[in-house]
Amino acid sequence: MITQSMKLIAVVLMLTGLFACNTAGGPSKSACSSCEVAKKADCGWCDSCNVGYIKGEKSTCHSCFNGKTGQDVWCDSCKVGYVHKDKVKCKGCFTAKTSGPACAT
Ligand SMILES: [Zn+2]
Ligand SMILES: [Zn+2]
Ligand SMILES: [Zn+2]
Repeated sequence: MITQSMKLIAVVLMLTGLFACNTAGGPSKSACSSCEVAKKADCGWCDSCNVGYIKGEKSTCHSCFNGKTGQDVWCDSCKVGYVHKDKVKCKGCFTAKTSGPACAT
């Protein structure tokens, strides 16, 4: 019963998606001007879509995006940090590289 209704919902979503595409006309998903600007600039963040673009690479995490663009940040949600655009996977090492004491591990 559950799978049946889920299938129905999927079909309805697909149909509405197709309908939206048809009414919009032309290729979809390029409607956001901020995204277009970010893509063209090769480095930009779109607040409305919550997505960033760095040299063609898509980034959906703002903290990581800031790290990739040169800020020294630790992203708690991705458990990854960036120091001078270098990826650091250990928080202790990240702290050591930025200011704190040497990493214990
Ligand atoms: Zn956008
Ligand atoms: Zn992140
Ligand atoms: Zn470490």
